Amino acid sequence: MPRYEYRCRTCDDTFEVSRPMAESSAPAACPVGHEDTVKLLSAVAVGGTRTQSAPAPAGNGGGGGCCGGGCCG
Ligand SMILES: [Zn+2]
Repeated sequence: MPRYEYRCRTCDDTFEVSRPMAESSAPAACPVGHEDTVKLLSAVAVGGTRTQSAPAPAGNGGGGGCCGGGCCG
């Protein structure tokens, strides 16, 4: 789900809201509850966040499994 950034014109705070694209233009209240907010045109991450999962299995050494020690040959 994409995240959109908004700015509250009442407390001048910025916050992010995760919501479907269909609701991207819908009003969003700030964390405090003000409804006078504007949507910021920041970079939107679409397509989910899969960048913080397991590290790449490639490379040399660093293995945490059994391969490399000779037990799985
Ligand atoms: Zn506010």
